[in-house]
Amino acid sequence: MTSVKITEFIKIAACPACNAGITIPDESAPELLCLGCGRRFPIKEGIPVMMADTKLPGQD
Ligand SMILES: [Zn+2]
Repeated sequence: MTSVKITEFIKIAACPACNAGITIPDESAPELLCLGCGRRFPIKEGIPVMMADTKLPGQD
């Protein structure tokens, strides 16, 4: 399996919840940020974990 760089991945990735684009808010932090709904998706062991049920910031 070929590993895909996160920077390449986000060019083609879309938020599973709202279908908006994805960006990296802080290159030192292992997470991605949706430009549409503001969801943050963790990157675990180099693999973005993008799940539609990820909680929005501030939700509890
Ligand atoms: Zn979104």
